[in-house]
Amino acid sequence: MGEYVGRFAPSPTGPLHFGSLVAALASHMEAKAAKGKWLLRMEDLDPPREQPGAADQILRALEKLGLEWDGPVLAQSARFERYRAALDELSRRGLTYPCACTRRELEDSALAIDGSRIYPGTCRQGLAPGKAARTQRLRTHGAPIGFADLVQGWTEQSVAKEVGDFVLLRADGIAAYQLAVVVDDMDQGVTDVVRGADLLDSTARQIHLQRLLGARTPRYAHVPVVLNAAGEKLSKQTGARPLDLSDPKAELARARRFLGQAEDGWDLARVPRVRALPICVPE
Ligand code: GLU
Repeated sequence: MGEYVGRFAPSPTGPLHFGSLVAALASHMEAKAAKGKWLLRMEDLDPPREQPGAADQILRALEKLGLEWDGPVLAQSARFERYRAALDELSRRGLTYPCACTRRELEDSALAIDGSRIYPGTCRQGLAPGKAARTQRLRTHGAPIGFADLVQGWTEQSVAKEVGDFVLLRADGIAAYQLAVVVDDMDQGVTDVVRGADLLDSTARQIHLQRLLGARTPRYAHVPVVLNAAGEKLSKQTGARPLDLSDPKAELARARRFLGQAEDGWDLARVPRVRALPICVPE
């Protein structure tokens, strides 16, 4: 398969917290163990969710933690043309369609596993008279997509049935995460994606897009996400505290323990094979 290319792709919605450190450390250690490259991509596609200064804060925090990346940082905000070109290619092949549905209009549709709505196909045959396009969706089809996740094991999803035609271009004109991540992983030559298991349910959508765009499918390893005392995923929204960068060694040691590692070295096989774990792991 040749050279290993891994990546960490934070969204600059706030300072790095323990949950993002776990994902960063796992992907960094895997890349180093394979003597590969570890790239950094700033997923700054969503201005309303971003916090001024957060991207810089994340870079400084990674430096303090000794998690050095290779090459320049790729910023999604500078790549709209590439996402547009990929979207145009899919559209030329008749694989996309304009959709007028609002979130509100989809409220009665069945819930997908990730909490979004399974698209009922309302606009698939064309917009109803008087309706204006808001988003562009991918026309999904085909057999379930399976992949052998290096941590979570064999995982399978029928995108057409379990997600439905998903959005590629949002109503605010921004490329959807699923499209951007696939185009970026392809353009950056990423061979291995190591990230939090909250994205396990996005992976089949991403593989589906890779196949349509003629991209190679990377290997995937989804490590458990960190839960707080209330059982919620650590995030800015759930009030995760920023990392204590006055003691980077202690934070790294905590992340290593969370990932089931011994004090030295790195072994992906020791990472707990679950989607989520509480922050307090027994010593
Ligand atoms: N930007 C995403 C996040 O911070 C990660 C995307 C990915 O690793 O594919 O959750």
